[in-house]
Amino acid sequence: MTPCVFCQIVQRKLPATIVHQDELVTVFRDLHPQGPTHLLIVPNRHIESIAEAEADDAALLGKMLLTAAQIARQAGLVGYRLVINNGAEAGQSVWHLHVHLIGGRPMRWPPG
Ligand code: AMP
Repeated sequence: MTPCVFCQIVQRKLPATIVHQDELVTVFRDLHPQGPTHLLIVPNRHIESIAEAEADDAALLGKMLLTAAQIARQAGLVGYRLVINNGAEAGQSVWHLHVHLIGGRPMRWPPG
């Protein structure tokens, strides 16, 4: 089985620009940024997608969102977008849960 790319980044076996790491989550720069700021907030523990998250993961999911807000504040972002793609139809391409933090440019609604 191919090792999970984001697990490898969390374990520092694959290079990435990590801007924050603690016992629960890791935050690193997206390889193909969709804005001046584009970071990914991932749980250190492998969870495939938000659909796979369970009731026991509630604190971890809250931690991911609060970390995103904290990092955005530190980056001086006021308006920004947090995105979770779930499933291939929604554009998920990496099967390790992640929140996109995108900011630094105007955003349109609805998203494509
Ligand atoms: P998604 O399409 O929602 O699954 O998002 C996956 C994101 O991971 C994309 O924005 C990719 O650019 C990003 N990505 C894939 N591989 C890497 C990597 N090795 N380092 C950083 N970002 C990556």
